[in-house]
Amino acid sequence: MLLLYGRIRLHSNYANSMDIDTRKEQLDQRINSAARRAGRDPSEIRLLAVSKTRSACTIRTLASLGQKAFGENYLQEALDKIQQLADLELEWHFIGQIQRNKTAAVAANFDWVQSIDRLIIAERLSAQRPTDKKAINVCIQVRMSQETGKGGVLPEDLLPLAEAINSLPGIVMRGLMAIPENTTDPEKQKMAFREMYRLYSILKRQYDSVDTLSMGMSGDFGLAIAEGSTMIRVGTALFGPRDYIKEKVK
Ligand SMILES: *Cc1c(COP(=O)(O)O)cnc(C)c1O
Repeated sequence: MLLLYGRIRLHSNYANSMDIDTRKEQLDQRINSAARRAGRDPSEIRLLAVSKTRSACTIRTLASLGQKAFGENYLQEALDKIQQLADLELEWHFIGQIQRNKTAAVAANFDWVQSIDRLIIAERLSAQRPTDKKAINVCIQVRMSQETGKGGVLPEDLLPLAEAINSLPGIVMRGLMAIPENTTDPEKQKMAFREMYRLYSILKRQYDSVDTLSMGMSGDFGLAIAEGSTMIRVGTALFGPRDYIKEKVK
């Protein structure tokens, strides 16, 4: 699948590499103005480039423009790219759902895992983190809607899970990650982000290591920044539309 994909995408990647720097520049400007509108310092907001379905070549181009943090959802696809890009000092974030039998590969290859919603996954990452590596950074994913299948812990279960995770060696609890409900109602979105910020503030008061509220994607990062996000995860607005067929197959 990956091989096939590589061949199909090669040409369009070359065509696109001309304007990815323009896209990056425009995105940086939009982040800056969203921060300023919210009365925040733009340097408080980190950009995670969500590179699922994008080729190693495209990631390399973006890395040459100064982008170092990349987010991936699919383990095998990510491992291929991490290997191909091992000569660059990139920071890899796993943001997809983790299966229990895949934690060793995640622990060995990623710097961050943002999609923790069960203690067993954190325990396995802790036990399997190679001892020659720094502790792995984790965020707890909070479920923000009734939609099933997206993962995430319910808000009422957050604090006990955080306490258990915080005591594990080999792991640093950095904060929370949220994928909001698919809604076009900005008022609803705002309330969901606000609730996330409230939970984040509680956690931050309790744990010194907590400094990350990962929320906001291509369609809603301005609002997320206004509501206190410290890390936005952007794919489409940076790389252009994703290949839908590729995502279906994965
Ligand atoms: C794909 C994805 C994103 C990026 O979505 P865009 O709308 O393309 O910016 C962010 N977070 C997660 C968890 C994702 O799976």
